[in-house]
Amino acid sequence: MENIRVRIAPSPSGNLHVGTARTALFNYLFAKKNNGKFVLRIEDTDLERSNEAYTQNIYDSLKALGLNWDEGPDVGGQYGPYQQSERFDIYPKYVQKLIESGHAYECFCTTEELEAEKEEAIANKKAYIYSEKCRNLTPEQRAKYIAEGRKPVVRFAVPKDREIVFNDLVKGELKFDSNLIGDFVIQKSNNTPTYNFAVVIDDMEMKISHIIRGEDHISNTAKQILIYEALGAEVPKFGHLGMILATDRSKLSKRHGATAVSDFVKQGYLTEALVNFVALLGWAPSDGEEIKTVDAIAADFDITKISSSNSVFEYDKLNWMNGQYIKKMDIKELTEKIKPYIEEAYNINELTPAQLEHMVEVTREPLTILSDIVKDIPFFFGEDVEFEGTVKEDVLATETSQKVLNKVLEDVDGWDFNNLEDLHEKLGELRTFFKEQGIKPKETMWAIRAAITGRTHGADISAVINIIGKDKFTNRIKKALIS
Ligand code: GLU
Repeated sequence: MENIRVRIAPSPSGNLHVGTARTALFNYLFAKKNNGKFVLRIEDTDLERSNEAYTQNIYDSLKALGLNWDEGPDVGGQYGPYQQSERFDIYPKYVQKLIESGHAYECFCTTEELEAEKEEAIANKKAYIYSEKCRNLTPEQRAKYIAEGRKPVVRFAVPKDREIVFNDLVKGELKFDSNLIGDFVIQKSNNTPTYNFAVVIDDMEMKISHIIRGEDHISNTAKQILIYEALGAEVPKFGHLGMILATDRSKLSKRHGATAVSDFVKQGYLTEALVNFVALLGWAPSDGEEIKTVDAIAADFDITKISSSNSVFEYDKLNWMNGQYIKKMDIKELTEKIKPYIEEAYNINELTPAQLEHMVEVTREPLTILSDIVKDIPFFFGEDVEFEGTVKEDVLATETSQKVLNKVLEDVDGWDFNNLEDLHEKLGELRTFFKEQGIKPKETMWAIRAAITGRTHGADISAVINIIGKDKFTNRIKKALIS
């Protein structure tokens, strides 16, 4: 079987976008399913837009999602360097080879000349294609331009009347007419390669067998195939993924919400949920069970079954899925992950580690993102309670509530605050006691809950009492009594 080698080649001009994460994931899954290698190449040749902090963000985000690479700038590998800016000396010899074989040529056209060509095309209502003015320069013309101090770019000589056909793994057969592709630049006047050229050389040298990327690269693929052919290299297989759209069907962007993996993480999304959700943007599980680990997805993954259309990024669905992961997560792990959000809002030292874990356990149920916990837990901290809405007037001030709270205060010394079971039982006895007097059990509980949390709903009340302890509990009950 051929050696499967795939890659992800992000440009570090921003934090890792969820779209790139999806591309990375599909490459990773394809490699995993086929015993292949997953390569990370950092395409940082655009030195002005590239930034080391973004490179670090790419590493961190991919790792957080569990998409570890077999070869890459940090881990090395047989076909390095894996950072494009360290590969500058590799490209010129291939440019030379193409010039010598007649597949490329130097172009001395100035910006003004090219602009004039473009304007003419616009005036004639034609799509602009380079005139090929420099395709067949005589040695004298060339010498004259050089003497004038002009610095040439190198253009690829696109063959005429060629139908470029390839069988896309996702989209099926795709065809391009070479007459519609102008002679494109492969090396800039400062001798650095353009994207379309560097990517071919790198993929070729790194022996990449399958290129899986976004469909925004389809038109580049036609050009890249021509370069492979001109170099006499084997053309890899291509698979182009549909775009990721927002629910309004426009391109997913920051105005819709977070788009960078690290921003999702900051907001309190779990990377396990995020990676699972992202897999569903184009891929569907064969058993219909959407919640799956990456390993389970890899086992079920088939690139040819990926949807060729665009996918819609539904934040609501992601929220739901994240909630599912929060519910199922190991409590110790969840507590560690959620701690920073609690720490930012409250004095976490008021709780022992065991109490903190218990609080997380009893408040995790309704959470969709980790940061949601902050609004559900203020009453675990501090002495006083903030009352929600009209809870004080409408719930606490009633005769029934006052009766309940007075009785609680009478009984409290007999409660074992360190024993959840006992608290549970005592509350049960209280409910029965008042039920016999015609007070609904839920009214009994409202009174207590309102007095100690300021709310009429929330986490299991015995657990809340157990966590806040006798002093806070008693003080709050006393404060709720109208003397
Ligand atoms: N650096 C390119 C990008 O980020 C890579 C495209 C490719 O996969 O060929 O879009």
